[in-house]
Amino acid sequence: MAEKILEVQNLKKTFLSGKKSFTAVEDVSFFLNAGEVLGIVGESGSGKSTVAKMITHLTDITDGKIFFLGKDITHAKGKALRETYRELQMVFQTPAGSFDPRCTIGDGMGESLRNMGISKKETRNRVEKLLLTCGLTPEYADRYPHQVSGGECQRAAIARALALEPKVLICDEATSALDVTVQKQIMELLMKLKKEKQLSFLFICHDLALVQMFCDRVIVMHDGHVEEEGTPEEIIENPKTEYTKRLIESVL
Ligand code: ADP
Ligand code: MG
Repeated sequence: MAEKILEVQNLKKTFLSGKKSFTAVEDVSFFLNAGEVLGIVGESGSGKSTVAKMITHLTDITDGKIFFLGKDITHAKGKALRETYRELQMVFQTPAGSFDPRCTIGDGMGESLRNMGISKKETRNRVEKLLLTCGLTPEYADRYPHQVSGGECQRAAIARALALEPKVLICDEATSALDVTVQKQIMELLMKLKKEKQLSFLFICHDLALVQMFCDRVIVMHDGHVEEEGTPEEIIENPKTEYTKRLIESVL
């Protein structure tokens, strides 16, 4: 049986502003097997990013549970949280925003390694190797974020996410801000990484062509809940609900 690497059960998120409250995510459950790519699709505002942020503890969880390799990490803190997040890394839509504009790309990439007590020299070695893995030359380590293109910056952001050798990469619209040819190159990089590093992916994307190309399974989100689940073929060729039908028609 496949090993469940990540599982969420009945996730819920309610945002409070003043006296008003808004539930953005409700009763969301799914799992990700080791080596698998699970896509999350759904129109803008359906709660995809909120789910990703709850998993990575970037936002509080209102209710529900998160398991990583069978361990309940819902309320993990301190060392336990840090250890989990070595294995669970996120890549965002806007690559520039993931680097501090005052630091070089190499310093940004090496920060987590330095924090672990790895020497300056060894960190530099690893940063250069990671840049090469992600299709950039080592000299990119000395550039600042504003000195690289969007595609190069996303490569560097992926390289940084790989620094601590994670088991899971959560990509939240990681290619949406890039033009089509660059998007294709980043997808090729992700597919290469999946093969070479046995990574599992949570792949949040509104582009169904990319989802079809990359994902093993897909969940469709609608207004904060899971509308349906299946293989990309099942979802695209035989959608069960009107919402999914409309979603597919709107993008194909
Ligand atoms: P998606 O990623 O699918 O486009 P999001 O998860 O970003 O959707 O947002 C889901 C819903 O939650 C949206 O209606 C959004 O406006 C709302 N939302 C997201 N973040 C916040 C926040 N910090 N405060 C209040 N509402 C939020
Ligand atoms: Mg989003």
